[in-house]
Amino acid sequence: MPTARTVTSPKKFIIGNGLFNNLGQYIQDFGSKALIIYDAFFEEKVKTEVIPALQQAKIDSVLEVFSGECTEKEIHRLKDLASTHHVNVIVGIGGGKTLDTAKSTAFYKKEPVIICPTIASTDAPCTALSVIYNEQGEFERYLFLPQNPDAVIVDSHVIAQAPIRFFSAGIGDALATYFEARACYNADGINLVLQKPSRTGLGLAHMCYTLLKDNVAQAMDAVENKVVTPALETILEATIYLSGVGAEAGGLAAAHAVNNGMSVITDLHKAQHGEKVTFGLLTQLVLENAPQQEIEDVIHIIKTAKLPLTLEDLGLQTFEAQKWRKVAEIACAEGDTMGNMPRKVSVDDVYNAIVAANALAHRYK
Ligand SMILES: [Zn+2]
Repeated sequence: MPTARTVTSPKKFIIGNGLFNNLGQYIQDFGSKALIIYDAFFEEKVKTEVIPALQQAKIDSVLEVFSGECTEKEIHRLKDLASTHHVNVIVGIGGGKTLDTAKSTAFYKKEPVIICPTIASTDAPCTALSVIYNEQGEFERYLFLPQNPDAVIVDSHVIAQAPIRFFSAGIGDALATYFEARACYNADGINLVLQKPSRTGLGLAHMCYTLLKDNVAQAMDAVENKVVTPALETILEATIYLSGVGAEAGGLAAAHAVNNGMSVITDLHKAQHGEKVTFGLLTQLVLENAPQQEIEDVIHIIKTAKLPLTLEDLGLQTFEAQKWRKVAEIACAEGDTMGNMPRKVSVDDVYNAIVAANALAHRYK
């Protein structure tokens, strides 16, 4: 059992409106020749904004479109490309899988990595972890990295232009952070870098929740109109930085374990990670018999963020008891984060909590 407590974080986290026009200034601290791995849909912006910004800072660049899946093969293809062109810094521009690929490429190349998220739906930007998939797009393994990214540059203007569903999903993932960190801390469980949770981790997770509660409505006004406001940037600090760093130092618990179990429900395959975590959080609150006010506050945030509330909102056609027992079994698997709950939770407990959480969700619809 680990005994050390940790806080791990990117070296720099920078957020502002229009930062991509100035990217060279941030990259030049780390290298003079960059491999830029980016999502295809972002091509025009890379060519018209990012490259001129790099040229201005006298940084050479090699451009490469991300193939779409974070596989061993893709990582090694990009690593070889980095070697051929003698680059000394890796830059990832895109969604979670692109960023995980950039982090892994930099790790194998032993070069610094600069992360530029274009959506705010996952914790990928700030964590020292990549999720590796096989060629069929199925989960293969976690790659634990020795360090977090060197810099995470968030251009709030770019994120405000992305589809609102990604922004909402990020809120769902971030909403669970405090409740999971609290459970893990009380259980003296194991955090995401396989050490004990720290007080700082719990504190950051709590700040994440407070910022969401106070800013979600005004931030939704901003993204619905594709404009940047202080409330929007406050939410991005919560969903991109505090959610990732808070979870990494504070640990996960039932909400993510239930999300992992939900992977066997085919109706939910199109749901975003953060959307499923939201339901996982309701399940955790039922398991904890959380105070009524806390449940109502969480449901208010879910509805304000226009996140799915019930399993049917998530895409479920019919509830089949047998399949949901399987969800509960996977959620309770050895080594999963259900083990971070303060009291022992059985498969039956989780199944019952799922059923009750969906009933609760329907009552508040
Ligand atoms: Zn998550």
